[in-house]
Amino acid sequence: MTAARVEPILSSTDVLDANEEFGMRRSLRGVEQSPLAGHFDQTIVAPATASGAAGLAVVRLSGAGAVAIGARLFRGADLLQSDSHRAHHGFVVDAADTRIDEVLALVLRAPASYTGEDTVEFSCHGSAQVVDEIVDAALRAGARLAEPGEFTRRAFLNGKLDLSQAEAVADLIAAQTRAARRAALEQLRGRLSARVRDARDTLLAMLAEIEAGIDFVEEDIEFLARDEAERRGRSAAEMIAALLATADEGVHLRSGIRVSLAGAPNVGKSSLFNALVRSPRAIVTEHAGTTRDVVHETLRLGGVLMQLEDTAGLRAATADPVEAIGIERSRRSHREADIVLLVLDAARALQAEEAAAIHDAAPGTIVALNKVDLLPPAMRDGTQAAATWVREQGGRLPAGIEAVAVSAQTRAGVDALTEALGRQVVAQRLVLQNDGLVAINQRHREILLRAEHAVVTFMASLEADEPAEILAADLRRAVGVLGEISGEQVSEEILDAIFSRFCIGK
Ligand code: GDP
Repeated sequence: MTAARVEPILSSTDVLDANEEFGMRRSLRGVEQSPLAGHFDQTIVAPATASGAAGLAVVRLSGAGAVAIGARLFRGADLLQSDSHRAHHGFVVDAADTRIDEVLALVLRAPASYTGEDTVEFSCHGSAQVVDEIVDAALRAGARLAEPGEFTRRAFLNGKLDLSQAEAVADLIAAQTRAARRAALEQLRGRLSARVRDARDTLLAMLAEIEAGIDFVEEDIEFLARDEAERRGRSAAEMIAALLATADEGVHLRSGIRVSLAGAPNVGKSSLFNALVRSPRAIVTEHAGTTRDVVHETLRLGGVLMQLEDTAGLRAATADPVEAIGIERSRRSHREADIVLLVLDAARALQAEEAAAIHDAAPGTIVALNKVDLLPPAMRDGTQAAATWVREQGGRLPAGIEAVAVSAQTRAGVDALTEALGRQVVAQRLVLQNDGLVAINQRHREILLRAEHAVVTFMASLEADEPAEILAADLRRAVGVLGEISGEQVSEEILDAIFSRFCIGK
């Protein structure tokens, strides 16, 4: 059997011609001047759906040559003549014109597509083999494989999304809870961008007036009164501070709320951890001090993501260096946790260090009295059972610290404990309140801190009666820094870092 001769279906000049035309259309953004500009002019292909058997899969082509390449692969209609947003039934063929699969081909013409470029999407059967062969045929026809996040990166380069919206796409795909999904969607719809723009516009308007004052200095007109400049500067600073205040919520939404289990060895921390996550993830043993490291598990609770951490015991001293490291790690886990679950053992008397830990419990601590199955029934039931036990053992629960009776073994009280966790989330406002719906990420936080600093500098210059040139320079810096959130001013490295977080095909 002779192998079919494989020829490029589309000559490279066809693609180049089309790309040149495309180059004319591109919006003007700083990134275009980069040596990579040509790279983003090529037509790309990738599966847009996850691999594995499924009802459907989508292979997406995007770029100036997308329709031409798609047309060469497709039999059933002439895609070159297709209107935008039209689906056509037909077959995708390989280089030897052999059918690969029966598909629907959707043509989206620039700029009305996700990337802002000409796009062809083949909806094929959800088989990894079919998808591979279609992608392969597109590669032979002149497309190249898309990089992670490249479709979204192109959408950004073509002005379809700003950078914070592009980040929201990654957040939305990664969202594990309703709250995270809602916040990502709001960011995608431009809520964060709009709030940053408000602050930026306030500063920009002031900058324009101050610069006008510099140009017309001999006319001796005051373009912007100092009081007014102070008022607007303060207003911009407040907008920035309000956004910065959502940083913790952003961390909780994206990484989860940290719940750390604390307590003496053998009180049943690992067992309780397992009862909470319902899986035998943590090591459970009868010897003291074996949970040496911190074990993490993600728990979804009423739409909130929780990062549960089972830690080494609270023993003060140990000769074992490995265990000592574990104890240090668990101390850190308790310090950094949003909620500490202090576990006690109902089967033995309250120890002095436990009594001290209860007495000093920080707000956000929940006391879990474990092994209540070993107590007489009269002592383990009722909402006050745990608090009563602690008091009878000579402990003192500070006001506002809840105590819950639980048995990791029988699972009695586990639901009550979960509810107590939920109450802490609300009490500490660990999740987004309905009004805000904005939750910044680490990148935004770092930018906003620099912008805040620039505005503070501006206010100080104003106070010190600095000349207009200095005031303008301070403002220009603040405006420039804020532009990094939407990506109006952003380096290639930052873009690489952001888009490499995406999967291929998005
Ligand atoms: P850790 O050292 O605090 O993590 O404690 P473990 O989870 O390893 O449990 C220590 C011992 O207590 C094990 O023998 C568990 O089976 C036992 N245990 C844990 N929870 C309960 C409980 O609710 N009731 C009873 N009766 N025993 C428990």
